[in-house]
Amino acid sequence: MTVSVTGATGFIGRRLVQRLHADNHRVHVLTRSRSKAELIFPVKNFPGIVIAEEPEWKDCIHGSNGVVNLAGLPISTRWSSEIKREIKESRIRVTSKIVDLINDAPDTVRPTVLVSATAVGYYGSSETQVFDEQSPSGNDYLAEVCREWEATALRVNKDVRLALIRIGVVLGKDGGALAKMIPLFMMFAGGPLGSGKQWFSWIHLDDIVNLIYEALSNPSYKGVINGTAPNPVRLTEMCEQLGSVMGRPSWLPVPDIALKAVLGEGASVVLEGQRVLPARAKELGFPFKYPYVKDALKAIIS
Ligand code: NDP
Repeated sequence: MTVSVTGATGFIGRRLVQRLHADNHRVHVLTRSRSKAELIFPVKNFPGIVIAEEPEWKDCIHGSNGVVNLAGLPISTRWSSEIKREIKESRIRVTSKIVDLINDAPDTVRPTVLVSATAVGYYGSSETQVFDEQSPSGNDYLAEVCREWEATALRVNKDVRLALIRIGVVLGKDGGALAKMIPLFMMFAGGPLGSGKQWFSWIHLDDIVNLIYEALSNPSYKGVINGTAPNPVRLTEMCEQLGSVMGRPSWLPVPDIALKAVLGEGASVVLEGQRVLPARAKELGFPFKYPYVKDALKAIIS
């Protein structure tokens, strides 16, 4: 198949593109920066890959079988009011652009599937509630971002299969939240972050990439699908497991203030979590490679 990917140069996108390319699919990298994308996907390693800046996105999307939408300003930063606006606007702008391009395509070249990212922040945060795809949205800023992001994707032509993946905290090497948490964790000898009671709905990078890949090709994957592992943990357990995998004792709590210094207000993703279950993925029989955080961390840290 031919797949166009926005946010292809990011943490999840890079791995997805590598996987699609390795399986001989034709990939169109839709980026804001050709030079950055060319460094990430050098032609000698990725022959045949197409790298496109706007306005070339149209020619890439028209004729693709599927589109994956992962673009957006990272949220793990200090949130000034300007950055908060851009966190939301960047997602809505890119989603709106690709939805318009899909909707404007003549029937013969219109993609048949759009897999669009959103986040578990949709549900808001709680130390006691359990959320699945049927749960209502929360009331905080990230919930609002996710609602508007999803509403924009939902404007896609009804003949196009839409899979909205509400992604949890993605754990992988060389990126994402873990790369930022590990140095802090080392510094404070691996205690829980904040109170430690918060829920941490995580997913291994391999599993989120596999889920997106499956959603591209399997017609049963439609509507909202939580992209989280089946066994979320409280932050205390996450830190204990990380400590054990790293061979560090877990005894000094990492203060909220230290985490905020590294992640800015984006630390709220870790400090104010939610317990999210992947009910749809389980119904669909999705085979999680890493259902337990300890195995996921071992695979990453080793
Ligand atoms: P990254 O931050 O690693 O990459 C996102 C990509 O979006 C970048 O490579 C960039 O591509 C593009 N981008 C960055 N800033 C902007 C901007 N201002 N306007 C338009 N495009 C921009 O994201 P991840 O791979 O970690 O995540 C992919 C998606 O999944 C994101 O939307 C994220 O919110 C969501 N998600 C991720 C989670 C995680 O733990 N990683 C958890 C929950 C949701 P380029 O420069 O090539 O245009």
